[in-house]
Amino acid sequence: MMRQNNTAERLTLSNIEQFQVYTERQLEKIPHIHRLSAEQRFNMRVVAHVLPFRVNRYVIEELIDWDKVPDDPIFQLTFPQPGMLSDDQFQRMADALHSSNTAKISTSIQRIRGELNPHPSGQRELNVPLLDDERLSGVQHKYRETVLFFPSQGQTCHAYCTFCFRWAQFVGDKDLRFAMNEAEKLHLYLERHHEVSDLLLTGGDPMVMKTKHLQSYLEPLLHPRLWHVENIRIGTKALTFWPQRFVSDEDANELLRLLERLANAGKQVAIMAHFNHWQEMDTEIAQEAIRRIRNTGAIIRSQSPLIAHINDDPQVWAQMWRTQVNLGIYPYYMFVERDTGAKHYFQLPLVRTWEIYRDAIKQVSGLARSARGPSMSAAPGKVEIQGVTEICGEKVLALRFIQGRNPDWVQRPFFAQFDERATWLDQLKPAFGEEKFFFAEEFAHIQAKAQLRVVSQV
Ligand SMILES: *Cc1c(COP(=O)(O)O)cnc(C)c1O
Ligand code: SF4
Repeated sequence: MMRQNNTAERLTLSNIEQFQVYTERQLEKIPHIHRLSAEQRFNMRVVAHVLPFRVNRYVIEELIDWDKVPDDPIFQLTFPQPGMLSDDQFQRMADALHSSNTAKISTSIQRIRGELNPHPSGQRELNVPLLDDERLSGVQHKYRETVLFFPSQGQTCHAYCTFCFRWAQFVGDKDLRFAMNEAEKLHLYLERHHEVSDLLLTGGDPMVMKTKHLQSYLEPLLHPRLWHVENIRIGTKALTFWPQRFVSDEDANELLRLLERLANAGKQVAIMAHFNHWQEMDTEIAQEAIRRIRNTGAIIRSQSPLIAHINDDPQVWAQMWRTQVNLGIYPYYMFVERDTGAKHYFQLPLVRTWEIYRDAIKQVSGLARSARGPSMSAAPGKVEIQGVTEICGEKVLALRFIQGRNPDWVQRPFFAQFDERATWLDQLKPAFGEEKFFFAEEFAHIQAKAQLRVVSQV
C-alpha cells in the first residue's frame, strides 16, 4: 500500500535478527539512524535518559518509513522527541550530559522524572485492593466487574511507546512498579469476588511472557471455583511490536493452543490490541498473527489514545478502523492521552479530540462505530466527551461516565462549561452556574477513605 523500502532485504531478516533490541546505549548502532543529524541524535539521548526508550529491528525495518522521518508516525511512536521534555527540563538534562558528571546526571534524571506525574489518576492509592489486610500491589480493582492484573514477568514491552502512561514501570525504580508474583493470590482474590466477570491482564505487555507463565495465570481460571470470571482480556501491543509472538516464536503455537483451550471451555477471550495507526497492521506478519489469533476463537478488540504527532487526524482513524473491520478486529476505545509523562507534547484539547472522533466515525460503516470515546480514564471513572452543544444560550460540553467508581454514575449525562483549551477532566468547570459536578462530593469521600486506608497501613 505504501512503503517500498528495501523489501528484499527485509525478507532476508531472520526471527533472531528482527528481535534485536536497541536502547539509549545502542542509539548510534540503529540501522538508518545516521540519516538524522548529530544534533538530532544528541537530542534523542537527552530525552531517552529520562523516559524509557526501546525499539527492535522489526519496528525499525518494517514499520517505520525512513523517508518520512521525523514525521513518520511510527518513528514518533517509538523514538524520543525533543518536545517531550519542557525547554527547561531539556536544558537541565542536556547540561548534565555535557558535564559528564554521573552524580549530576542521575540527580537530573530523578528530579525530572518526579516532575512528570509518574502515577496519574490516583492509581496507587485508590485502585489497589486488599486480601486479608494485605495490599495486592499487582492488582487494580477500580470498576466492580473488572480486575486488572499486572503479572510481574510482563512489566516490559517489546518496544516502548513514547507517550506511554505506564512509563514509570519501566525505569527500574522498584517503588514505582506495580507487580505481583503470585498467581495464587490473584486467584484467591477472584474466588472471593463473585462480582468480577472480567480479568484483564495488562502490563507492560503480558505477551512478552513465555506461554508457560501465561498459562499459570490463565489455566486455573477454568476451575469451577472461578466460574464467574467469564471474560479474559489480554492487553497487548505485540501485534504491532512483535507479531512474531503469534507466528514464529518458539512457543507461538503453544500460546495459540492455550487461547483455544480457554475459548473452547466457554471463556470469552479478548485480545485488547493497542493500535495507534493503520501502518502497524500493514505487514504480512501482523496480518498472519491476526488470522492465527482469530482461528483460536479469541476475538481481537482495538484501543488507542488520540495522540498529537501520531494520529491526530480523522483520516488516519477512519482508515485504521476500516482496516481493522476488514481484518476482523472490533474497534473498542479511543482514549484521551493521560496526564503523565510527556503529555504536553502529545495531548490535544478535549474539544479537538471530539472533533476528530466525529470526523472519523461519520466516514465509516456501522461495524466500525463500535469504537467509543474520546474517553478520559480519570480518577472518578472513564468519562466520554459526547460533544459540544448549546443549551439555553450557554455553550457546553456534554459528558457521560462510561465507567464509574460508583456504577450508579454510569450513563448519567452531565455538562461542563465550554473550554477550548481544557485537556483533562480536572480542568473543566460545571456548566449552568453549578458549583460542583454531580459526583464530586461522593468521589471526595471515596478518596478520603482510601487515603485513610493507605496511611493506616504504612
Ligand atoms: C478501562 C478500564 C477497565 C475496563 O473498562 P471497560 O469499559 O470494561 O473496558 C477496567 N479497569 C480500569 C482501571 C480501567 O481503566
Ligand atoms: S505497549 Fe502499552 S505499556 Fe508498553 S510502552 Fe506502549 S503504551 Fe506503554
